[in-house]
Parts: sequence; C-alpha cells; structure tokens
Amino acid sequence: MRRAASLLTGLLLFAAAACDGVDQENVSDRLPTPPPPIASSRGAAPPLPTVATGDCLRGGPAEQASAQANAISRRSLSWSPFGRPEYGWETYAPRIARTIGTLCPPDTPGFAAALRRWQASRALPADGALRPEQFDLMKVDWHRERPYVELRGDGVCPAPPPDRVLAVARVDEGYGGKVVMMRPAVLTALRRMQAAAKAEVPELARDPQMLKVFSAYRDPGADAARCAREGNCDGIRRASCSVHRTGLAVDIVVGNAPGHPVDSTNDANRLAMSQTAAYRWLVQNAGRFGFVNYAFEPWHWEYVREPIEVAPAGYRLAPRRGQVTAETGYGQGVTGAGTEGGGATYGRGTRPR
Ligand SMILES: [Zn+2]
Repeated sequence: MRRAASLLTGLLLFAAAACDGVDQENVSDRLPTPPPPIASSRGAAPPLPTVATGDCLRGGPAEQASAQANAISRRSLSWSPFGRPEYGWETYAPRIARTIGTLCPPDTPGFAAALRRWQASRALPADGALRPEQFDLMKVDWHRERPYVELRGDGVCPAPPPDRVLAVARVDEGYGGKVVMMRPAVLTALRRMQAAAKAEVPELARDPQMLKVFSAYRDPGADAARCAREGNCDGIRRASCSVHRTGLAVDIVVGNAPGHPVDSTNDANRLAMSQTAAYRWLVQNAGRFGFVNYAFEPWHWEYVREPIEVAPAGYRLAPRRGQVTAETGYGQGVTGAGTEGGGATYGRGTRPR
C-alpha cells in the first residue's frame, strides 16, 4: 500500500507539468485518498476493449439509475481533479469512455453498464456511477502512459535535445503561420496522424486550422528569459521543467469555445474542446500514431515512441539514407536512421533507472 501511495503521489505531483499553468505545488495539497494497490507499478493498465454497445439507451433499472446519477454529476460534481476546483466531469468523458470501453454518451445506461464492467475489473464497488476516487485510478493509468511523468516522478528533468536535431515544420503547419520545431519522428508521426484524421473525418478536412500546431519544442532558456523579462511566469508554465523541452510534445488545435483562444484552460473552453470531432477522434486514434494526451488539456499530446532523455554530450545520430531537409521533417543538416515513420535514432536515448 505504501508503494502504491508513493507512486500515486509522484505521479500526481508531476502530472500537471504539461504546458499550462496548473500549479504542481498546489496539486500535492489535494491528493486524493490513496487507491488500492495496482497490479503493476509501471505501465498503464490498458483500456477495456470497446464492446458493441447496441442501443446506448437500453438497460435495466440499475443502469437507468446509474445513468441518471451520471447525468447529474457530469455537470454538477464539485471536485478538484487536477488541483483546482471544477464542476462536473463531462470534459473528461471521452477519456473515461475510452478507458471503460464504450462509445456511449456519459448519461446513458450503456455508459453506466460499461463503467460497471470496468469497476468490476478493478474489484471496485460496481454500480456504474462515476466517483472521484475511481476517476483518480483512471488518471493514474493515464499518467503512466506518459514517460515524462514517470521520469519527473523519479526526480529527473530531462535535458533538451540540441537544436540541430530538431525538425522545423513547414510554415503552413504552424497555427497562424507560427514556426514550430520538434523531434523528427514526432513531426513524421504527426503528419501521418493529421492525414488520417482528415481522411476519416471530413469535417476536419474542411477546417484548414484544425490540428495545426500552436506549440511544440520550447527552449527552456527562452522560457526562463521570457519569464524574467516580462515579469510574468504564467504560473509555473515558463519557469518549470515543461515537457515541451523534450521536443516530443505538441499542442494542436482541436477547436475552442467562442471567444477563447485555442490553449485556454478556461473550463468552458476545455469542455467545448472535449466535444469536438477532432478531440474525440484523437482520443480514439492518436495511440495508433504514438501520441498520448494530458487529460486536463485536450490540445496537449506527447509522442511516446521515442525515449525522452537525451544527453547533450555524446549525443549522436546513426547514419540515414537520403538527403534530409526540413521539408521532409528533419532539422537542417541532420541525418538519422529511419525508425518508426523515418525518425532519427538517438544513440544515448535511454532513460536512467
Ligand atoms: Zn502542451
């Protein structure tokens, strides 16, 4: 139990350090009751397989009652799942649904039935009604999908990769023409994911801004300098060890509520984002391309098929066939062996244990 509680504490302490201003320090003050021990201390529990839901509205009296409870709590639950007060859990419904293996909306008997199956699979009280302490268990699993969280939990702030190995996206790939850089394999995988999303969801193809990148690699020195220069560190966003220093994280446009920017953590904005076709497609499919989401920020995705840790000294890239250019997703003058999607191979890329 102590091990599980310690792990949970570590995960929650660092999980908030994605790209926003959620204060890590404050998270520790609101740790939930430690959950029961989880079978494996490393690696997330896989989501339940999505089962055919049939009619989401069909169900017995128990499912109907749970659906009613969920219909109320999804809008009104008062809690602090990510360190600040929120009402309701509808913003997280797509992630929850994915985890419990259903495509049914959160206020339906079909959703309640799927949640009950998930609860039973964890030996939890199985009534199909969502509870904060059970959401915390899901959240731990989601954090475990992110190697960055695990690394930070081990007390490590990863070194940024040298600029020379970063790929520069085309200007038209950045939101508003912004120039963004990331690790080559990330750009390759991102392009594949964007193409698949637009092919599978015509609505996304019709919006030229959708899925564009508004932030990727962020130089820690520049973040700190801006923080000092402007006297505004935006919470801890620019001053802390952001995962954006790894070159593996991307913030992509998934929509927004009217009047809100695409990266606003306003709750109404996050709720609107969670209901877009883009976000819902990503929740179901981004894993195919190696990306995982930080649930608090629908726009924030981390590529997990490359190791995070890169040692500046002794950093090397294996030879790669063919000319490498920014256009094809590689940084200027960089060569690297093709891996998944033609990305670079990092000779000293293993994380410390
Ligand atoms: Zn981000």
